[in-house]
Amino acid sequence: MDVTILAVGTELLFGQTVNTNASYLSKQLNDRGFNVMYHHVVGDNPNRLKRLLIHSLEDTDLVILTGGLGPTQDDLTKETVAEVFGRELLFDEECYRLLVEHFEQRGRKMAENNKKQAYIPEGATVFHNDAGTAPAFAIEADGKCAICLPGPPREVYWLFDHGVSDYLKRFHEKEMVYKVIRTIGIGESDLEMVLMPLIDGQVDPTIATYAKEGECTLRVASQRDTREEAEEAVDAMIREIDKLIGEYIYSYEDTPLNEVVVHLLQKYSLNLTSAESATGGAFAKSVTDVPGASEIFTHGFVTYSAEAKEEILDVPEDIISKLGVVSKEVALTMAAGALERAGADIAVAVTGCAGPTADPGREPGEAYIAWMTGGRLPSTSSCIHIETKRNERRWNRNYFCLRMLSSVYRVILNVEKEGLLPIQG
Ligand code: ATP
Repeated sequence: MDVTILAVGTELLFGQTVNTNASYLSKQLNDRGFNVMYHHVVGDNPNRLKRLLIHSLEDTDLVILTGGLGPTQDDLTKETVAEVFGRELLFDEECYRLLVEHFEQRGRKMAENNKKQAYIPEGATVFHNDAGTAPAFAIEADGKCAICLPGPPREVYWLFDHGVSDYLKRFHEKEMVYKVIRTIGIGESDLEMVLMPLIDGQVDPTIATYAKEGECTLRVASQRDTREEAEEAVDAMIREIDKLIGEYIYSYEDTPLNEVVVHLLQKYSLNLTSAESATGGAFAKSVTDVPGASEIFTHGFVTYSAEAKEEILDVPEDIISKLGVVSKEVALTMAAGALERAGADIAVAVTGCAGPTADPGREPGEAYIAWMTGGRLPSTSSCIHIETKRNERRWNRNYFCLRMLSSVYRVILNVEKEGLLPIQG
């Protein structure tokens, strides 16, 4: 079923409020197999709203409106929707009772204009709103449906979970299943090229690629008569995708890389440490964001200045002066220093230039990431050189973190593959 999401509110047009209702509703509807065709925004103007609503109902079968259900003069969504559907607004005793109760429970006097919220278009299905005062409703005619929700996002979420989602089941023609695969180390255009034989001419399942910051995700979706059939179709397509890009996939369940890495370290009882310069502790944060990280990470080192690298991690002064602080040798000695001091099994280190300005002889976005294993693992080490060619500090730091995580991920996969894991106690 084709859907329009129509947000009402002049503050949205002024840019004062971000239209988060549209993105929330789109996600919910897509997850349920609806095709969201349009996002529209209109100010608090009944004539423009009327024109847009008529147009949207011609173009799509379901229109979900948000905003303008409040008690004030400029809240005109309900009146306009009733007019377009040719219905009268009728006083609803139950809505009024709940409104009175809402104010009584909060020890507040109900304003006269709140009574307006108890009027509902004739024949509409009401969704009572425990999160606010404005009741929501759905109205249907001639195979078309409009659902009116209030503007405040928390009320939208509450109403969606308590009534609207169940109401939408009447329009479900098929069961929808989708899975999100996460990849790292391959760009979106390369990903699309490699997957072209599967993407070309796709009908069902569909594959959509999205580039996120520094990584790419794939959404594989199928709509079939039964959930089981849809699941089977998605899983079969994932097996095909796996054959083509398996080496880049780190999660088949939309799990972020930091969680995947922490869970692997927990699984094999391995300790991790970090030595960070350009990321300023962001790597340690991303690891410790995952609940249970204390089992695998006792501490990391943030050595931002050259002196700190020398004093805390024993990076030799002459290496820094001869080769520069952003160099392979510095990254490797940082990793070695961290590994020894933390008594860890794996250390990962970064030294780089986050930008926006260039360091002498170094471009923004350039970094060396080194990793070293020791402790209960055989001694190995390696280093990669990165050049993002970007001068956006936040983006670069995030990307360096991701590459540090993916380096640790590859180290663990490698020791797993080679059978080098420590014996479990
Ligand atoms: P209420 O009577 O509770 O105010 P309402 O239905 O009249 O509800 P609006 O007055 O249009 O809703 O909006 C209330 C608030 O909700 C706005 O100030 C804004 O912060 C937020 N809001 C409105 N529309 C959106 C939207 N599309 N996305 C995110 N927030 C929104």
